[in-house]
Amino acid sequence: MLLDKSIQKLSDLIKRKEISSVQLVEEAYARIETLNPRLNVFTTLRKKEEVLREAQEADTRDPVTPLHGLPYAIKDAYATQDIRTTASSNVLKDFVPPYDSTVYKKLKKAGAILLGKTNMDAWGHGATTENTDFGPTKNPWDLTRVAGGSSGGSAVAVAVRFVAFAMGEDTGGSIRNPAAWTNTTGLKVTYGRVSRYGAAAYASSFDTMGPLGKTVEDCACVLEHIAGIDPYDGSSSPEPVKQYQKILDVSLQKKVIAIPKELFEKGIDPEIRQMILQTKKVFENLGITIQETSMPLLDYALPVYYFIGPSETSSNLARYDGIRYGQNRDHFTPETIRRIMIGTYALSAGYYDAFYKKAQRVRTMLIQEYERVFRACDAILMPVTPTSPSKIGELMNDPLQNILADMYTTSQNPVGVPSLAIPCGFTSSKLPIGMQLIGKKFSEDLLFAIGHQYQVATSWHKTLPPIFTTKKEGV
Ligand code: GLN
Repeated sequence: MLLDKSIQKLSDLIKRKEISSVQLVEEAYARIETLNPRLNVFTTLRKKEEVLREAQEADTRDPVTPLHGLPYAIKDAYATQDIRTTASSNVLKDFVPPYDSTVYKKLKKAGAILLGKTNMDAWGHGATTENTDFGPTKNPWDLTRVAGGSSGGSAVAVAVRFVAFAMGEDTGGSIRNPAAWTNTTGLKVTYGRVSRYGAAAYASSFDTMGPLGKTVEDCACVLEHIAGIDPYDGSSSPEPVKQYQKILDVSLQKKVIAIPKELFEKGIDPEIRQMILQTKKVFENLGITIQETSMPLLDYALPVYYFIGPSETSSNLARYDGIRYGQNRDHFTPETIRRIMIGTYALSAGYYDAFYKKAQRVRTMLIQEYERVFRACDAILMPVTPTSPSKIGELMNDPLQNILADMYTTSQNPVGVPSLAIPCGFTSSKLPIGMQLIGKKFSEDLLFAIGHQYQVATSWHKTLPPIFTTKKEGV
């Protein structure tokens, strides 16, 4: 299986002409044909002949980047010219954008080959990839369970090696949560590190675009090619983009990781708690000091997120009035309607001070809480989710319980800091567990170095889901 190899390895083989892009695309489609009917990863899968033509063309050119000729998938939130873009909602079920999102344009320029658009919770609203008009994406570790969300399709595409890497979007955990539940690696970037231009807006002051990969090293490689300032996104940052892959082996001696004690006290599955705390030994062997810290305000992350997020989404989704493009708003799912209503309520004249304004004040306090902790450490270690992936259908009718899946992933977006989700073990029923390392703004390089050195010392991320062995794979 070629697509189990790292981006660097695949790129070296392509450069030496030992393998071709056509071969990778053939392998990808063979696997998609066998496994995708059970997983439901794509909202739109591009025609194989069309993709093969692009791969053939790539094979005639000399690679200029390590992504050259590599198959990848992109969340259906990114606008792709001439390729349907739905945000997994019937509101946009026939929408074919006349322009490209910046990330897609950059990946095209880097020579990567797009296979298709991946399933997601409509508009990014969800943590399970069940709030979609395209049917749920299944978890390859247990087909009766959800993949996580909202970037569930992208995470599964990587987990079952349909692609070399995939793009997701994270507003409050949507890259990290499905990464943790599928045994893949995912990065939520610093706000502004990657252009949001052309991506369906959920909550504009939280939204971030980032990669999902088999390894930290792969994510570092992808980030190098998608990051940077963009004249089309006024919130994109001029901060220089580093050559992340070259600095993965820097010394971590004297670095400090803080663990907020409150997060391990209540509401977390004991098996997940134990596996996360066990990572301490690995970090200490890398020369890192682990310190306990206290972040009592994290308790307010969910309410802050679930007032500001819906407020911004109620404003962003107002454009889908069915007049200029798209179907009318009767096509929104109940979950999305609930968010539009909560947001409209929180922003209304009579309640603005009590809800929206108060949430923004507490957001500022959360920013200060992170700043205080970062004065004494370089990164913060947290779980990604309090539980294992839920059974399909289990959380759909229980919106409050559903929200609790986001308890560890919603504080970072209002604050704007980066966070890297990494596999760190399995439960006794063989379901993947993820941890996240959170850094100061624009410290993606340090998170990558810690994550990479952790992956060199461990092998959790290399374990493949049972779907490869339970039925004949056919490739
Ligand atoms: N699960 C969170 C929500 O439903 C996060 C979604 C996201 O990051 N797009 O809002």
